[in-house]
Amino acid sequence: MRPSLLNPLFAEIETLPGVGPRLAKLFQRLAGPRVVDLCWHLPASLVDRRYRPSVAEAEPGRVATLTLTIEEHLPGRARQPYRVRARDESGFIELVWFHARGDWLSKLLPRGEKRRVSGRVEVFNGRPQMAHPDYVTGLEEGDLPAVEAVYPLTAGLQPKVVWKAAQAAVARAPSLPEWQDPAWLKRRQWSGWLEALKSAHAPGEAEDLSPLAPARARLAYDELLANQLALALVRRRQRQARGRAIRGDGRLAGKVVAALPFALTASQQGALEEIRADMAQPLKMLRLLQGDVGSGKTVVALLAMLNAVESGAQAALMAPTEILARQHLATVEPLAAAAGVEVALLTGREKGKTRAAILERLADGRTAIAVGTHALFQEEVAFADLALAVVDEQHRFGVHQRLQLSSKSAAADVLVMTATPIPRTLELTAYGDMDVSRLTEKPAGRRPVDTRTIPLERLEQVIEAAGRAMAAGGKVFWVCPLVEESELGDQAAAEERFRVLEQRFPGRVALVHGRLKGAEKDAAMAAFASGSADLLVATTVIEVGVDVPAATVMVIEQAERFGLAQLHQLRGRIGRGRRAATCLLLYRGPLGETARERLEVMRETDDGFRIAEKDLELRGAGELLGTRQSGLPQFRLADLALHADLLAVARDDVALILERDPELSGPRGQALRCLLYLFERDQAIRYLRSG
Ligand code: ADP
Ligand code: MG
Repeated sequence: MRPSLLNPLFAEIETLPGVGPRLAKLFQRLAGPRVVDLCWHLPASLVDRRYRPSVAEAEPGRVATLTLTIEEHLPGRARQPYRVRARDESGFIELVWFHARGDWLSKLLPRGEKRRVSGRVEVFNGRPQMAHPDYVTGLEEGDLPAVEAVYPLTAGLQPKVVWKAAQAAVARAPSLPEWQDPAWLKRRQWSGWLEALKSAHAPGEAEDLSPLAPARARLAYDELLANQLALALVRRRQRQARGRAIRGDGRLAGKVVAALPFALTASQQGALEEIRADMAQPLKMLRLLQGDVGSGKTVVALLAMLNAVESGAQAALMAPTEILARQHLATVEPLAAAAGVEVALLTGREKGKTRAAILERLADGRTAIAVGTHALFQEEVAFADLALAVVDEQHRFGVHQRLQLSSKSAAADVLVMTATPIPRTLELTAYGDMDVSRLTEKPAGRRPVDTRTIPLERLEQVIEAAGRAMAAGGKVFWVCPLVEESELGDQAAAEERFRVLEQRFPGRVALVHGRLKGAEKDAAMAAFASGSADLLVATTVIEVGVDVPAATVMVIEQAERFGLAQLHQLRGRIGRGRRAATCLLLYRGPLGETARERLEVMRETDDGFRIAEKDLELRGAGELLGTRQSGLPQFRLADLALHADLLAVARDDVALILERDPELSGPRGQALRCLLYLFERDQAIRYLRSG
């Protein structure tokens, strides 16, 4: 249960003074539904009211605070604005109101009196004016705020309204027990939480708006600490889960390695050792195998699965799509056969008698390795003795889904493979609950892909180049633009391109998109992989997996619309065979700054980890990998592109915290529980003994 101390923060925004149902809706859109959401909504800029020129000196366009004597009221007739003439020793200025109430203005600005007026000075018809001043006060009243925070807005919300609500939200914030280490706070010269929150909402200088300013950095660190602590608790829970010690004798794996037409890379060997060591522990393994496209994860997965099979148990390999599952089967089956190990495929498409037979062989253990889609984890599927579940390309999964996944066999080890290189910084936030093995080398003999950017106007040349590649015995991937509006749009674009290319290369073009039926997709893929088709027009369904070594050209239309990670994935589909490969990034100009940089990065490097870092830099973590599907956490205060060092500290901090006070029961531990609630990591608290 959330401590009652935090209740004021988790009250609805409507409980703030001046916020009714209408405004509450807008605030919800802007920040979120509760008071705490507004607390996390930090100012984006400042208005500096310290500029106090005379009227004659005042620079147009700048916010100025003027001391004026009121001369005359000129109420506007009909639709004219209401104007007030005022002056100082240097000259005249007109104060202007549209739709003003005259009686209110005459009281506010009595003739002959002096007033302090603050707002943006403009020039209209050659004369200085100020429309709708922000402040009009008497000289005897207190001075104006020297500097005012300006908040990010949404349509329908006035700056002053947001300012007031944010200030009111902060005023509700209670003083909380300190969860940070005092020595660390002192070293960074950070204040307590409440003080940091208040000063983040009351910036005095432009530099206070920087995410690196002390107040903001402290809040960001709090958020990162909460994230790391929550992940560590989940991780510990997994570790504590009863596992089993799986020790293969290498007899099957040895046969497969001998049958491979290549030697394993040092990275592959290293990863395999880590996996085997994990599996040998009587604990549950939860390990991430990260490796660029083509770095050879599948072989590693197979050898890990054989480790389970050698010990007399079973293993399963789950892919996100049917195409990929079939591809894995094609890789795994012949190799496993070399060791006399039975492999079965199970997707949504195996039906009736075939399905029943597969299920039976899985249930009695004759089938040692199952390859499939999530159909593998459906209720009717029973394994005789599942010891290892390998999940491929699971960047779409979050922490809690991973927990669910192991429900097929509570004690089964889990190996997650991802071909989406994740920057180290994000690895900690998203996969802090897992151990990580990285395949950093490319298998020997890979040639870098020659990557070029070409404006769409030169489409004809690109078609000719594709024709030449096909004439030379190569195969061509042709990826069609991503159409945001609808899936149907993707399909239409792909179909249109298919028609054009089919006319040029009759009978040699295949088409695959997300709306085709399974069998149609397979037919198209099969035609491309081995049969008659030399050019495959596709939407991004080919993004994950799909191994066609003969493919030498990858054309990506409107490449500027794709994210870096996606472009990298797509490009990874080629250059797998021995021949030189080319990637043509077709773009529709003019390019924006970010799009230009992205395409530039693609030309410069094919190192997935570097590309991922760059992606983070260019897009910000929020957008990376499509955060919503990726299961990556979204941060309100921390900016991973800027606070990466803090994240690393938070991780170490958490290790120390849990070593000293594993159940968070001491005074700092209690404060840390409060932190977890503050950042809504309630779930993690349930993993504590007295949660
Ligand atoms: P990933 O799944 O990481 O994208 P794969 O496991 O599909 O990569 O491997 C890509 C290709 O490289 C496959 O054809 C595979 O047989 C081959 N391969 C794997 N490991 C090696 C290696 N050590 N040396 C040469 N080729 C390899
Ligand atoms: Mg693969």
